[in-house]
Amino acid sequence: MINQRYIEQFQQLETPFYFYDLDLLRATLDTVKREASKYNYVVHYAIKANANEAVLKTLTEYGFGADCVSGNEVSKAIELGIPNSKVAYAGVGKSDKEIKTALQHQIFSFNCESIPEIEVINEIAGKMDVVAPIAIRINPDVDPQTHKYITTGLKDNKFGINHWDFDEVGRILRSLPNIKLTGIHFHVGSQITDISVFEQLSLKVNKIHEWFEQNGFHLEHINVGGGLGINYDDPQAQPICDFAAYFKAFNDHLELKEGQQLHFELGRSLVAQCGHLISKVLYVKQGLETQFLILDAGMTELIRPALYQATHKVSALTSNLPTEKYDIVGPICESSDVFGRKVDLPKSKRGDLIAIHSAGAYGETMASTYNMRDLVKAYNSDELK
Ligand SMILES: *Cc1c(COP(=O)(O)O)cnc(C)c1O
Repeated sequence: MINQRYIEQFQQLETPFYFYDLDLLRATLDTVKREASKYNYVVHYAIKANANEAVLKTLTEYGFGADCVSGNEVSKAIELGIPNSKVAYAGVGKSDKEIKTALQHQIFSFNCESIPEIEVINEIAGKMDVVAPIAIRINPDVDPQTHKYITTGLKDNKFGINHWDFDEVGRILRSLPNIKLTGIHFHVGSQITDISVFEQLSLKVNKIHEWFEQNGFHLEHINVGGGLGINYDDPQAQPICDFAAYFKAFNDHLELKEGQQLHFELGRSLVAQCGHLISKVLYVKQGLETQFLILDAGMTELIRPALYQATHKVSALTSNLPTEKYDIVGPICESSDVFGRKVDLPKSKRGDLIAIHSAGAYGETMASTYNMRDLVKAYNSDELK
């Protein structure tokens, strides 16, 4: 999965670090571009999944828009040269400063998550003498069949506006002069591997869309968010998601009116498989019923296992001995700092290199310095060529 010539170079580098295979990223983006353009769909990249400079530069070259969840992400998108007409901004808690930043950049859309937020954007836009283009983020009450911490579209989630508030939203939108409703927005969760969830979402969108039409709001765009899942168990079997089936599900079920554009905000599915966390074995420690493989990477570099009970495929890069069972753990002073239990791995020793795969999304961006550790470094295939 990782070319031998890179592994030789890894041995000269201080671990742990992220390694990004930009060739796989480009192959993924080629596929997305091809499949989305069949239907004229607009794809935004969700920057929070991975904001590594080389990854962002590569994404920018493909002409995707940006999906931002903070003022700094909005500024970063603009700095990268992503046209402001392709920058969407979501989030339940946009600060006044962040709203001003986004208004100054004249972004494509504020994806609004509550009535008080709409009122504040109207007020700030009024002071700046501009009109803010907004999309209402709607909670469609679709169960994405994923982990509860990455479910966002159920009626008791903090995200989005619920259907019982529509009448009030309609009244407020008509009364606010510095707001223009341009679209509706949905994002029901992440790591969704069952395509039928997107079919259900499409059917809900059709109904909600109808409400807006009937109430005199003509929408320029519909944004169905992201959430397409990847294969964490066997990344080699599916390095690139089935984007053809994903976009087709929307084309088959979601009804657009004349001139309307369908937008997507993909994060994980674009960048997860191109990233690997490379670590070294510090110690092999004999436990009562298990042996621990203690790595120099932990939850400070990749928090997904500790935060979402996620599992990543782990492989040995420098050992091809017969396998043994290991509990693979990090060095951090937390019991949840575990990458896997009872994992079959070639017999390993101190100094061996280990790769944790599918780590390109919500890995480096969520890294911390907990325990006063150094912030994780990153390399990519272009610089190690
Ligand atoms: C995180 C996020 C995304 C991207 O989700 P993925 O599961 O990584 O595709 C898209 N839209 C919004 C609003 C988000 O918060």
